[in-house]
Amino acid sequence: AAPSGTSTPAIQYGTKRIGILTSGGDAQGMNAAVRSIVRYSIQRGLEPFLIYDGYSGLVQGGSKIVQAKWSDVSGFLTHGGTLIGTARCLEFREKEGRRIGAKTLIKNGISSLVVIGGDGSLTGADVLRAEWPEHIDALLESGEITAQEARENRHLMIAGMVGSIDNDLASTDVTIGANSALTRICESVDALQTTAASHHRAFVVEVMGRHCGWLALSAAICTGADYLFIPEDPPKSGEWEDKLCEALKNSRDRGKKTSLVIVAEGATDSELNSIKADRIKEILSERLKYDTRVTILGHVQRGGSPTFIDRYLGTVQGAEAVEAIIRATPHTPSQVIGLLENRITTQPLQQAIELTRSVAERINTKDFKGALNLRSSSFASQLKAYKEIATFHVDGRDIVPENKRINIAIIHVGAPAGGINLATRCAVRLCINRGHTPLLVYNGFPGLMRGEIREADWMIVDSWTVDGGSHLGMNRDAPDDQLGAIAFQLQKHNVHGLIIIGGFEGYLALSTLQRNRKEYPAFSIPLVLIPATVSNNVPGTDNSIGSDTAINVIVNACDIIKQSAGSSRKRVFLLEVQGGYCGYLAVMGGLAGGASCIYTPEEGVSLQRVLDDTKYLKYCYKRELGQSQGRIVLYNERASSNYTLPVLTNIYRGEGGGLFKTNSSVLGHLQQGSTPSPLDRIHSNTMAVSAIEWIQQRAWDSIAEYEAAGDEPALSQKSTLKRKYLPRIFTNSSDSAVVVGILDSEVKFTPVADLIHQTDFIKRNRRAGREWWAFLPGLINVISRETNEQPQS
Ligand code: ATP
Repeated sequence: AAPSGTSTPAIQYGTKRIGILTSGGDAQGMNAAVRSIVRYSIQRGLEPFLIYDGYSGLVQGGSKIVQAKWSDVSGFLTHGGTLIGTARCLEFREKEGRRIGAKTLIKNGISSLVVIGGDGSLTGADVLRAEWPEHIDALLESGEITAQEARENRHLMIAGMVGSIDNDLASTDVTIGANSALTRICESVDALQTTAASHHRAFVVEVMGRHCGWLALSAAICTGADYLFIPEDPPKSGEWEDKLCEALKNSRDRGKKTSLVIVAEGATDSELNSIKADRIKEILSERLKYDTRVTILGHVQRGGSPTFIDRYLGTVQGAEAVEAIIRATPHTPSQVIGLLENRITTQPLQQAIELTRSVAERINTKDFKGALNLRSSSFASQLKAYKEIATFHVDGRDIVPENKRINIAIIHVGAPAGGINLATRCAVRLCINRGHTPLLVYNGFPGLMRGEIREADWMIVDSWTVDGGSHLGMNRDAPDDQLGAIAFQLQKHNVHGLIIIGGFEGYLALSTLQRNRKEYPAFSIPLVLIPATVSNNVPGTDNSIGSDTAINVIVNACDIIKQSAGSSRKRVFLLEVQGGYCGYLAVMGGLAGGASCIYTPEEGVSLQRVLDDTKYLKYCYKRELGQSQGRIVLYNERASSNYTLPVLTNIYRGEGGGLFKTNSSVLGHLQQGSTPSPLDRIHSNTMAVSAIEWIQQRAWDSIAEYEAAGDEPALSQKSTLKRKYLPRIFTNSSDSAVVVGILDSEVKFTPVADLIHQTDFIKRNRRAGREWWAFLPGLINVISRETNEQPQS
């Protein structure tokens, strides 16, 4: 983010005035974007103008165009929809309508526009820009604008932000609103599953997505749906009915009491015949005699408060949109802001729209493979993984030869985090469908030492998509003192690969096993850690599973507390959040919860900083008088050993004087969440599938080496498993003990031996080079503090 607080005009071309409008379908997170653009542009010395009701407001002009002050966007973060209104404007589709819009902008001295909307809205902005010189000339000629106005507004600068719940824009991994819509879907489907189970019912749920199956696919992964229909992957015409029935029947035969089918609204078969929820219901009712209900979620998906991710996207992309406007020259094409591989990007708008439209064109010409390839790289791999584990493969289509089947143990270590059970479920089901044996280790390393290991079957993990906590039981006990007993149990149960799901303790345990391979050959098997901790402090990944769930809990808490603190007026609330020595939760929670100040271990706490913060808050409350709002301060549990929460609370109380009162609270274990968030569920799925694939490959490499040396597989008489032969696995190179992580949106495996060297053991936090969020505290300061108007004294 660029520096703040400058009063010099940053813009090179055109006026200082920047117009902001939301257009097309509303999407949660649009308000966060508007707030960010308004505040960031003020800090950059620009003058933001809100254009109410999209292009319709632009055409109407007058009271629809209002200059925005800093405080006008207070409270925007928590609201769904768009507070500045949106519309579908037919007039703007015509050149005449756009000319009126151009006149409105020029008369208001606005020569830059940030548009937040779908591909139609962004196209409209680009068309206006392309026609701009023509409009200027015509308006000048007709005398509707003066020569000076024409000169001052000679160039129109455009930046687009994609607000769309469908996640259908190419050139960005995720659009603003998609995560919240997915959250609404998961909440609804989770609720449906309990009633479905009570009545042994089948549910067919239709979700939005005319040309894009992202919402449907993600929802199917998150909720463990039995079957899925999306536009990019249509089933063969005339065959899909039988396949659907067969798959659902297989699940019921294994003991499942319910069936769940998710269908995107634009789903078709391979001949482009629509597949509608009612048709699916008919098939299930008639052929399988299931009591089947249809739920069409509709506009519920657009509703509710935005999730953390959408607030985050709106905020960081809003700042980038202003920077794109500032950077633009008359020759720069219109830009669209996106997110690719975890980085905010700026790309030519037209290119992104063309790419998006070519997906729909490919579907219409039945080039489904081409359409799938144009989606993000993770889309196709997630679809493949989903199909492999959605239902039990009675036909054994993915089963590997007997000499390649291995036993994979799964253990949970550390503290619970949302998504741990789902990761286990995915790993178990993938193992079973490939013919491997999943072994569940109960109660962490003490349990492993005692031999608390059981083979998992298909149904035991069935409901584990939605459950928080750990069904296997977990604790922080390290394996260090019991290495012999642990090696014995691994050997006794013929464990060929081990998945540790856990946080920093899991990471240390992985390192311990790896370092002790010489003394204990039983550890010379593929070992992999799936990082799972609310703190997101495990090296080797940008995101650990559980952290998104925790941030959403923090954000919800901030919303509630702010409302309460606002009602009693003049109240500042200090909220302590978890994270150990890693400030990730405080920073992200603060950004999305609209915190006025954030204290983290990375930055530390000084008396001067606290006094500056209280001075700023006094200034705010003095200015607001009777209109005072509640304010939140987020404090990481390890931010300072001297300025602890009670100490800080007292300082705030003392300094607040008569201007504000102070309360404090510790959020504590609530942050583990009762239900994993959709993003954590998707990450859990991705990491678990990748971990199994990786173990399988490492084990097969080892088997191949034994086979090349003429070694037979071992006889398995001593095994507790009903298997004639067991493969021999031995792998002790450092890259056979890894952390599976999501780095820049891609799955990567990093040897723990490499990571451990770079780990800061004093603070137990991640290596500095990978704190990808380190720029955010600066941005939060820019957007949450009105530095331009602060008193000098
Ligand atoms: P969603 O993804 O929710 O449909 P969208 O932005 O694609 O959002 P549209 O209805 O296509 O929604 O477009 C919104 C508005 O943008 C239209 O009502 C119209 O005013 C303007 N617009 C769309 N396409 C064009 C175009 N080709 N030229 C000019 N204006 C357009």
